[in-house]
Amino acid sequence: MSAPDNTGTTSDTDPCPYCGTTSGVQPVTTSPKVQAWSCAECGTQWAVSVVNPRPYMDHLTATVVARRLVTLADLAPILTDTELRARLVALAGLARS
Ligand SMILES: [Zn+2]
Repeated sequence: MSAPDNTGTTSDTDPCPYCGTTSGVQPVTTSPKVQAWSCAECGTQWAVSVVNPRPYMDHLTATVVARRLVTLADLAPILTDTELRARLVALAGLARS
């Protein structure tokens, strides 16, 4: 039994949430705290925050949320757990709207 061919990859590449392919998926560098990808097959872009992994289909929403997450991450050391949780909930609400 041999493992699936995974040569040359330094990290897992998630399939595109829209078309499901991995061949056209390219990582997009935005921030150390946010991982983002774009799909060459269908043009979908999405991002996953390292703080609270969750895929975002909407690129515009992802951009806004990513910026706020970066701000939130910078504030994290001085926020209480309750404050941090409340802000994450607010961000999740923004991502769903
Ligand atoms: Zn795609």
